[in-house]
Amino acid sequence: MSDNIPESTQEGENVPGWKSDLISGYHKFRAGAYKQRKDEYARLGADGQNPKIMMIACADSRVNPASIFNAHPGELFTLRNVANIVPPYEDQTGVHGASATIEYAVLSLKVEAIVVMGHESCGGIECYLKGIDKLDDTSFIGDWIKLLDAAHARLSDAHKHPSVAQRELEYAGVLQSLDNLMTFPFVAKAVAAGELSLLGSYFSIIRGKLLFADKAGKFHEVSSTA
Ligand SMILES: [Zn+2]
Repeated sequence: MSDNIPESTQEGENVPGWKSDLISGYHKFRAGAYKQRKDEYARLGADGQNPKIMMIACADSRVNPASIFNAHPGELFTLRNVANIVPPYEDQTGVHGASATIEYAVLSLKVEAIVVMGHESCGGIECYLKGIDKLDDTSFIGDWIKLLDAAHARLSDAHKHPSVAQRELEYAGVLQSLDNLMTFPFVAKAVAAGELSLLGSYFSIIRGKLLFADKAGKFHEVSSTA
């Protein structure tokens, strides 16, 4: 290994399973995807990234945007958090990780599109529907999930089967995140100038299917073959 990055030390026999999983995955990456794109990695590392698309997705381990969109390094600038929530713009000082990431994508990287991707069986959505009051008031997840209040208010009051309510809130959460994106002045400005597009999407884990939202906020399946 070059530069000043030390080779990792051998830890003998007591490597925990999760760590050997990481190492064996890394070995496969080195022999496969990295080997195929070695020059690309070198170029991207030296020259910087220039992604056209920002993805905002759930942190859920089953919905990796790079896998779903077969994206290569440098193609998707990605923000992931619980329930793919974009908080509304706040004109105040403070530490806002999501807002900073969006700002960097729009003002520095000048991405052409921001895609918010919701998904089936979202634990964050389920947590909200089961009652955030059951969570400790001081928990980070409770305050974060409360941001779904605005999405929940979009739904009709009609009594629904839990699985229907879950799906509807998963959709509404995506639409609310798109609306919240427009509360950021630099996003609204770039959209108005025709320099930035916003798109809602949704991934069905069980069926491996992708949906896009239309302008009216209805979700439609994308053809799964060329
Ligand atoms: Zn989720």
